[in-house]
Amino acid sequence: MANIVAIVGRPNVGKSTFFNRLVEKRQAIMDNEPGVTRDRHYGYAEWVGKFFTVIDTGGFVTGSEDKFESEIRKQVKLAIDEASVIIFMVDCRDGLTGFDKEFANVLRASKKPIFVAANKADTPDKSILAAEFYGLGLDSEIFPISAENGGGTGELLDEVVKVF
Ligand code: GDP
Ligand code: MG
Repeated sequence: MANIVAIVGRPNVGKSTFFNRLVEKRQAIMDNEPGVTRDRHYGYAEWVGKFFTVIDTGGFVTGSEDKFESEIRKQVKLAIDEASVIIFMVDCRDGLTGFDKEFANVLRASKKPIFVAANKADTPDKSILAAEFYGLGLDSEIFPISAENGGGTGELLDEVVKVF
């Protein structure tokens, strides 16, 4: 099975920033299907000699009738189905939200390996906030990261690629 990592989470937690960091060196966005690019981007990445595909998704918003949001929801479900590993991104600055909890419930049902990335932990004091996400009740270690400055991303990726 192909090595595919999907980055999921509600809007504005930093998924695309992390995706761009991962695929940056290769500039390898490969999906140009009309109408799909906005919500789902594919790229190639490498970490410690392991190669994998990364999927960046749009946000997942539960319980909305809105067409745009239902499209996002569909795309995320597809990403979850395709992925061999899921990085569930949350935001240390916002703390644990209701959407995060609902999202966690959908992910738990996927039965895929899940890694929680508590993003925007730009400084050690922010990293401490990441512990709150153990309250999601997911079977995952919580990895404080900064997609912006790269902090903690190595520790996260070391664990992710062990799945491959
Ligand atoms: P997405 O909607 O989940 O794809 O989130 P984006 O990657 O578009 O980021 C949303 C906002 O959060 C942008 O203004 C980013 O610059 C900011 N952001 C992303 N990662 C970090 C981070 O590690 N630290 C800080 N402070 N801001 C970040
Ligand atoms: Mg994005």
